[in-house]
Amino acid sequence: ILEDEEGGVVFFAPSLSSASSSSSRFGYASIGSQRQRLPVYKYRTAILYLVETHATTIIVGETGSGKTTQIPQYLKEAGWADGGRVIACTQPRRLAVQSVASRVAEEMDVKLGEEVGYTIRFEDVTNPAATMIKFLTDGVLLREIMDDPLLTKYRYVDSFGSKNLELIWKKLEMVLFCVFPGMVADLLEHIQRRRPELRLIISSATIEAKSMSDFFQTSKKHRGPEDHEFVPRKVPAVLSVEGRGFNVQIHYVVEPVSDYVQATVSTVLSIHDQEPAGDILVFLTGQDDIDAAIQLLAEEAHASRKISSGLIVLPLYSSLPRAEQDLVFSPTPRGKRKVVISTNIAETSLTLEGVVYVVDSGFSKQQFYNPISDIENLVVAPISKASARQRAGRAGRVRPGKCYRLYTEEYFVNEMSSVGIPEMQRSKLVSCVIQLKALGIDNILGFDWPASPPPEAMIRALEVLYSLGVLDDDAKLTSPVGFQAAEIPLDPMISKMILSSNQLGCSEEIITIAAILSIQSIWVSGKGVQKELDEAKLRFAAAEGDHVTFLNVYKGFLQSGKSSQWCHKNYMNYQAMKKVIEIREQLRRTALRLGIVLRSCEGDILAVRKAVTAGFFANASRLEVSDLIFLFPARLEAFSHNGMYKTVRGSQEVYIHPSSVLFRVNPKWVIYHSLVSTDRQYMRNAMTIDPSWLTEAAPHFFQNLRRPDPIAH
Ligand code: ADP
Ligand code: MG
Repeated sequence: ILEDEEGGVVFFAPSLSSASSSSSRFGYASIGSQRQRLPVYKYRTAILYLVETHATTIIVGETGSGKTTQIPQYLKEAGWADGGRVIACTQPRRLAVQSVASRVAEEMDVKLGEEVGYTIRFEDVTNPAATMIKFLTDGVLLREIMDDPLLTKYRYVDSFGSKNLELIWKKLEMVLFCVFPGMVADLLEHIQRRRPELRLIISSATIEAKSMSDFFQTSKKHRGPEDHEFVPRKVPAVLSVEGRGFNVQIHYVVEPVSDYVQATVSTVLSIHDQEPAGDILVFLTGQDDIDAAIQLLAEEAHASRKISSGLIVLPLYSSLPRAEQDLVFSPTPRGKRKVVISTNIAETSLTLEGVVYVVDSGFSKQQFYNPISDIENLVVAPISKASARQRAGRAGRVRPGKCYRLYTEEYFVNEMSSVGIPEMQRSKLVSCVIQLKALGIDNILGFDWPASPPPEAMIRALEVLYSLGVLDDDAKLTSPVGFQAAEIPLDPMISKMILSSNQLGCSEEIITIAAILSIQSIWVSGKGVQKELDEAKLRFAAAEGDHVTFLNVYKGFLQSGKSSQWCHKNYMNYQAMKKVIEIREQLRRTALRLGIVLRSCEGDILAVRKAVTAGFFANASRLEVSDLIFLFPARLEAFSHNGMYKTVRGSQEVYIHPSSVLFRVNPKWVIYHSLVSTDRQYMRNAMTIDPSWLTEAAPHFFQNLRRPDPIAH
């Protein structure tokens, strides 16, 4: 079962593991009646019939109608998970995966991680011998399949009909849907011919069922004779589950608002003051403005008894600790009103009971990738009409509701775009390209994308992969580097860094660095404690930069016995450090599987820096200094342009991020982990290098970039 941003795709396939089957148990009485009240329940028989007789079924139903939590259970009850088969259901986000998995486990009255489990990146809560329903992100589904050594043999299989191919298809079919639901037109034909027992269910709240159905049909044009006795019907069935959505009255602001956080707060307060009981769901964009709104509401509550005694204000965003997430789903006590202030996570993937009022800021945080500058940014951007309708719909779940839009009707009608920009067109493509390549889909430019990504992004991705030695001159995965890199669940630059550490004898250190780099930040947020935080960082700071500093931090953490007090004392985020340990463990296992020898360089930091450079040479930049530097070569700082660097590849102006230990140190040459742009473009996590390592690491890449260098030694 696959769900995309807008809802999703449901599918399941026999698991390849030889899991023992447990007899299917019917009726989980405890929450039974609640389950029967959901709109999909009326369609249970119809759904099971359609799934039985059709290879693909499209189910459209409003958010909250029970698609995600119920359909997998129906399938299991009907025996689709017998014989070691697994019903897989993907969700677009990690938080949604965890939340629905625990809900379904609760409904079935089983322990999470047994019959019902979930897997998100770096966290596997399943039991291969027992799990029948498994929730996962689509990225993880892809990885799982790629982890299997079989896939690495893929390129050696060229004759159709070989035994291997059969097995590979079994894997492929799962993979393809998850990466690009609906993009597999050509392949679907083969897949369904070879796997008549495979069923795909596409479920969505907002999907255009008609166009999706057309898409699947047009892909079957060149069908040859079937090679299986029973073949389910190829034309997808479309079933619309009647929602029980109530009417939602829409209110617009008369004048555009200048500060939507402030406007949110006053709207919540006036609803609380004037409207009858019912919870409020507010859509803001991210943790920052959610925290700001909560702060403002707390100040109001301080001044008014009515507010302080009546309102329960709760945040909801993906990095929220588990216990706080759960609060959001707990029933509202009598006489109280819950206010959930959420990112767009509550737009389609999560359902909150009891919401009667929705406040819609009109914005959400969206990922945008600029292939020219190679910067991936989370940007606050206006939502689409489709999102606005979806948000409003959340108010009509239990009874007629109201939606307060913090934008004018004129804006909604005339200016808001009707649908959002597809994710494919605003994402960085390296990981996606490497995965397609690993699946043997070589003609990426001619691939049947439902929404073509911009050619610049594609070229950029191919270029990076080529320079990393992941792709060869024919744009095929290289052996072994390309195939190995495809198996590591991280950005290919990190993968390359890990692979290089093998030869350089510093894999233990590099794996630590990779684990820390995949966490947002290991430090506590600097708000109000900036000075103390800076001092704490200094205790670990290495002259070589952030990567080496991480090694010091990790060592300190281990020596402290992984103590939370130690973290607290050093302004480090204990939860983040625990996560680092977990991720590191997973990466170690991956590394072992890839044949990397786990070895520590015992303090040979040069090896570590060279390994980092082997992955990140493309992110090199050089301090800009005035030509007069030759007068006082030692006084770099005096001749620099306020710490301005230029990237070696695109000559972009960049600066060292204030959070880096190299901030204000400004060494001549650095490589950075990523760029973030705020008022300027900043390099996050920087490390000093010797420029000669660059040409060593990637001779082709730097061939045409040599320029006279006033500060070269
Ligand atoms: P859909 O996938 O159609 O949007 P879901 O299957 O996610 O709907 O949710 C169906 C119903 O299950 C919701 O309306 C809600 O009542 C209940 N539900 C879902 N998740 C939870 C949860 N984490 N806690 C409590 N109830 C939940
Ligand atoms: Mg759902």
